[in-house]
Amino acid sequence: MIVILRENTAQAAVEKLVANLKTFGFDVHISQGSQHTVLGLIGDTGKVDIDQIKMLECVDDVKRIQEPFKNANRKFHPLDTQIKVKDAVIGGGGMTVIAGPCSVESEEQIITVARSVKASGAKLLRGGAFKPRTSPYAFQGLREEGIKLLLEAKKDTGLPIVTEIMDLSQLELFDDVDVIQVGARNMQNFELLKQLGHSGKPILLKRGLANTYQELLMSAEYIMASGNENVILCERGVRTFETYTRNTLDISAVPVLKKLSHLPVIVDPSHAVGVAEFVAPLSLAAVAAGADGLIIEVHNNPACAKCDGMQSLTPEQFRQLVRRIEKLKSALE
Ligand code: PEP
Ligand code: MN
Repeated sequence: MIVILRENTAQAAVEKLVANLKTFGFDVHISQGSQHTVLGLIGDTGKVDIDQIKMLECVDDVKRIQEPFKNANRKFHPLDTQIKVKDAVIGGGGMTVIAGPCSVESEEQIITVARSVKASGAKLLRGGAFKPRTSPYAFQGLREEGIKLLLEAKKDTGLPIVTEIMDLSQLELFDDVDVIQVGARNMQNFELLKQLGHSGKPILLKRGLANTYQELLMSAEYIMASGNENVILCERGVRTFETYTRNTLDISAVPVLKKLSHLPVIVDPSHAVGVAEFVAPLSLAAVAAGADGLIIEVHNNPACAKCDGMQSLTPEQFRQLVRRIEKLKSALE
């Protein structure tokens, strides 16, 4: 349920009302909109007498929220959430590019790629240390060593780092990681989501291979319900009957998720299409659809990559793509 307050309601009146609502056992989420303050009530609001609340002098309107996701709902929080990661801001109409290899392979590889993507305009560095691979015989990532190398690349370039967690037991290694990625395969690992909610760190939450928008938002809700509002949603393609591409980029996800939620929405064209040649057109489509950012795989030598070489751009291809992204973004403004 949301309680929309009248314009210019005094802070003292807001506090009094919030304290009053809390006595009924609700969690109250306060959101300062451009004109109105909106109070989001979480809990069993079924028995609340809406008319009684509407009668209060500072209340403009009261509405029930039908959707099961509350904290992530735009009705709770009308303005876009902006997530600050060092100097980068994700959300709120900008275009934040995250780039780096699928997996961290060596010091030389990650430092080379980090320097080149930074020079081209990437604001965060990605790189997998723990890799969810379909085959147990495939490269599983450098694990703890991979995180150490990412931290070296961060020190060298100043770029904040994004890397995937696969299991709660790994969390202690993520202290200096700036954004924790929850991959598609773990989108509904609810225990992991709850604990990441307690971590307070920005979470990049990828849509599962066959999950609906509502399921993605409910997973975000798990993180937010545990007290962490810093969730970035990521569309990375879904499983369809098409086999030519790795997955099918669901471009509708961008405007729909942005309508339903205030959380930033970014797109991963690399895992969506799986072929380097098509990463640029899908990136531009994501920009045109209103995405807040992109996460793109870049490798210094894609032909020899230990993971996802086929879909990785060379540093030069990435540099050219960023120029086109910037041009398109300014043409749209
Ligand atoms: C990745 O980003 O390297 C990755 C494994 O992504 P996804 O979970 O979307 O497959
Ligand atoms: Mn990958």
